[in-house]
Amino acid sequence: MSDEDSQTQKKVFDAETASSLVKELRKNFGSGKTRSYEWRVSQVKALLKAMTDNEEEIVDALRSDLAKPSLETVVYEIGVIKSSCEGILKELKHWMTPEKVKTSIRTYPSSAEIVPEPLGVVLVISPWNYPMLLALDPVLGAIAAGNAVVLKPSEIAPATSSLLEKLIEKYMDQSIVRVVQGAVDETTALLQQKWDKIFYTGNGKVGRIVMTAAAKHLTPVLLELGGKSPVVVDSNINLKVAARRIISGKWGLNNGQSCISPDYVITTKDYAPKLVDALKTELQEFYGKNPLESEDLSRIVSYNHFARLSKLLNDDKVSGKIVYGGEKDENKLRIAPTILLDVPRDSLIMGEEIFGPLLPIITVNELEESLDVINSGDKALAAYIFTTDKKFKEQFVKNVSAGGLLVNDTSIHVVVDTLPFGGVGESGMGAYHGKFSFDAFTHKKAVLYRSFAGDSSSRYPPYTDTKQRLMKALIAGSFLGILRALFGWS
Ligand code: NAD
Repeated sequence: MSDEDSQTQKKVFDAETASSLVKELRKNFGSGKTRSYEWRVSQVKALLKAMTDNEEEIVDALRSDLAKPSLETVVYEIGVIKSSCEGILKELKHWMTPEKVKTSIRTYPSSAEIVPEPLGVVLVISPWNYPMLLALDPVLGAIAAGNAVVLKPSEIAPATSSLLEKLIEKYMDQSIVRVVQGAVDETTALLQQKWDKIFYTGNGKVGRIVMTAAAKHLTPVLLELGGKSPVVVDSNINLKVAARRIISGKWGLNNGQSCISPDYVITTKDYAPKLVDALKTELQEFYGKNPLESEDLSRIVSYNHFARLSKLLNDDKVSGKIVYGGEKDENKLRIAPTILLDVPRDSLIMGEEIFGPLLPIITVNELEESLDVINSGDKALAAYIFTTDKKFKEQFVKNVSAGGLLVNDTSIHVVVDTLPFGGVGESGMGAYHGKFSFDAFTHKKAVLYRSFAGDSSSRYPPYTDTKQRLMKALIAGSFLGILRALFGWS
């Protein structure tokens, strides 16, 4: 067999290969090594070291896949992964400790605890937009919880996917953690297997494919999806700060290619021109007069996404609506930050998640109408509001349903590890980050301990009237009822 033939043979990853991989990992998981605190810590430390030792290579891979500015990679990919590692190292012992809980009079005498246990062998399927972070953050949760993991990174970020495979091979326990590179065929082969959990990040269409495959084996899924995250802008705010924060969340994070990127803005007709002016001023300060040349903006990931975004801009319904930007360079896959004002709600751009550098603004007569606009659509992954009006803020928090809400800023709630990160409805199901990542990959096993003492005959036949009264009182948890039944009090 020639070298080329053996190379081709090695690359075929079908259902059979997937099945033996899962079998192997299941066997290794069965050895019990992942259950120890020491093994988990060693793996988290290994990943932390991989991030520290390979910063330059990671920055280069993300530059190659997305032209991602190095600051964004260092802070929002490597930095966040490192801080997840550190959080786990600090808290893991506590998370792993069984939790003693109270029992009731109904089981007296007894004690009880909740014992966290790993689910088993899990699959993580990750996307291209934060190709390092969104691959490794769920893997970290899975390992911290003591699972064996297969990671399937995105083929649309090939440099990062290859690097992920290389780093995981070099730094982590290969008997437990594996990477399978590939696209639809490989993922399909993986999805045919029985997993103990599937953690998928990406679009809802594939989310449905994942969930359908999982249903066959009754496998639980955690779906991290997207949606149209709105930003409501009131007129009583510090406009300069608000504009900078909207820009930072929209264009400063991967040029709009973020799941929690502000998708569209709602403000009043009167205030819109002021908001547009402020956004223009700050955008020029951040990215200069020719943003297509700016090294501080990521490029569009692929030609398909470039064409999709161009189609949104070419829609007749938004013709003449561009008030800033609109420049494109197809060869370099670059689109400048673009603002569209007074966009009709039945336009293409309002019909799907934009996931790119276009920001439509919808105007309303009264800001309260924004809640109806938001609630008439699918539940988003995030919703933002800029206001100093306490009552309106409370109304927003109470009435808007989304994965997460953020008041007077955009996107940064994602780094608060004490908050769960995940969607609701069309934006996903389940959540992770911090302890929530550990919980996402953990079964909380309920354990009740009893001794042979206090074996009351009241639960056993024959069921006399006294026993029935006693059992009813026990179920109701009524101490007085129990005494009444025992002593025949009326
Ligand atoms: P993508 O194209 O990289 O796909 C995600 C994964 O699904 C990849 O690993 C890919 O190989 C796999 N996949 C693609 N087609 C498949 C198929 N037919 N069968 C099985 N697997 C398949 O990424 P994407 O979907 O373009 O990612 C963007 C979407 O993800 C946006 O909607 C965004 O909002 C969402 N997202 C959500 C989060 C979150 O944390 N909630 C984070 C990032 C992105």
